[in-house]
Amino acid sequence: MQQTGQPIAKIPLHMTPAGDTYNPELVFSPDGSVLYVRQPVVLLEGWDWVRWHAPEFASVTLVVIAVWLLWLTRRVMGRKQELGCVYCRRCNYELTPPIADEVRAGRAEWLSAEAKCPECGKRAKSPVVGRLRRWRLVPWLIGGGLVMMGCVMALAFSLVPLRPFEGPTWPVAGIERVARGLAFQKERERFPMKHLLTKWDTMTGTKLRTLAHEYVYGMNNGSLSPDGKMWAMGCWNLSEGGQPELVLVDAASGARRAVPWSEPPNVPNVIGFSADSKEAMVQTTVMAPSGTTVTLDAVNTETLQRRLVASVDVPPRLVPSAMEATYPYYLIDPAHPERIVLVVAQQTGGTGGVAADITVIEGEQRRKITGSWAGQSWYTPRWAGEGIVEIPIYRGTQNAQIDIGSGTVSMVNPPAQRVIAGDVEAAIAKGAVVPTGAGDLVISLGGAVSGAVASRDGKVVAAPVTRQRKGTPPNSRRPRDWSTEVWVWRLGE
Ligand SMILES: [Zn+2]
Repeated sequence: MQQTGQPIAKIPLHMTPAGDTYNPELVFSPDGSVLYVRQPVVLLEGWDWVRWHAPEFASVTLVVIAVWLLWLTRRVMGRKQELGCVYCRRCNYELTPPIADEVRAGRAEWLSAEAKCPECGKRAKSPVVGRLRRWRLVPWLIGGGLVMMGCVMALAFSLVPLRPFEGPTWPVAGIERVARGLAFQKERERFPMKHLLTKWDTMTGTKLRTLAHEYVYGMNNGSLSPDGKMWAMGCWNLSEGGQPELVLVDAASGARRAVPWSEPPNVPNVIGFSADSKEAMVQTTVMAPSGTTVTLDAVNTETLQRRLVASVDVPPRLVPSAMEATYPYYLIDPAHPERIVLVVAQQTGGTGGVAADITVIEGEQRRKITGSWAGQSWYTPRWAGEGIVEIPIYRGTQNAQIDIGSGTVSMVNPPAQRVIAGDVEAAIAKGAVVPTGAGDLVISLGGAVSGAVASRDGKVVAAPVTRQRKGTPPNSRRPRDWSTEVWVWRLGE
């Protein structure tokens, strides 16, 4: 079945201050009425906020002080004063008794209540006693000069030479085309540290609420419970090196609870929930020279109690020339949620051999399945149908599939990636095919579609759609020349 459709909703994504948009992970609520968007973002908080805005503050202060010092210098140089004489503060006219006089050292006063300046006719706060030009000027020049130096240092601290594919240049975009040597950009956080979790009405594309912004460690490290009531995320503030936490967020209210997890850098990795949604399943991988220990814990979402489900030791098998590390990965079988498998793929030689060790855990029962094939690298394993684990091979023509029931390993051709050209605008990828529960969906638009997800009943599909901004160089590689939105389609009717 194929359908061509216009989206029913377009959901904007968070853009960094520098204009970059990071691709989100999308999850539908069980009934498909709510779309959760979990997006890596760069939020400007605290010190980052100061650094981001420092160029504007520093440059404005620099100009204001420079103008003021020029004005002061001009005024002082133009108003001659003699030591011990008294002058009008307003117009610098020399005042003498009985109008005004120096009453004590350095301090002059009006000598009567009616006294005023005969030149400008005004009675300023008090007359001033004449001072040498250098004392009227030099302290201000030094003070102003120090502040200006501070501003220059703030600019040097907050600006860097334009980096490839970054920008925009400061203070105006496009300087690099005129003067490459003057192309500076703002210094910014290099990687998004936080994820922003928001929920949206699928039918209208309106935002329902922001649920969380958390230091989620890595993509794929979060899950919505099967009943749709709870989010679990594995969090760690890498830049501050704090304690890793399992964070539970109520999907309705956004109420947050955190479970302190382990010593850094052993980060909790949320792999899913038990079928009844009562426990979050969390993997911890501790690597040591003697081998890797992969632990699976279940955390009760009401009491926050932690229960050890399994702990598997993986001996090191790497040869010194091998490039791949061990990435063990627990998977919950969607067809049999009480069954959990630990997939450990390891490279067995420098020139290409992968061995997989699969531990099947069903309650107290353990089974082991082993297999090996040619190849150097692989992607995250996943379920490819009932009881079948698939390990996609990097640059391979075939993927490894392991039948958990029979324990057989076979190599299969991955499903062909079909791209269907539609009636499109200027585009990079002319439409895309999104696999759904209801069949394939042909999206006929200009832009690239990635990471599409379907609701449980297959009737609603959402995907991030990236399109090039108008007026930017053709096929630019700068992230800020592209914009991404989440589009939602409804199938059938
Ligand atoms: Zn005067």
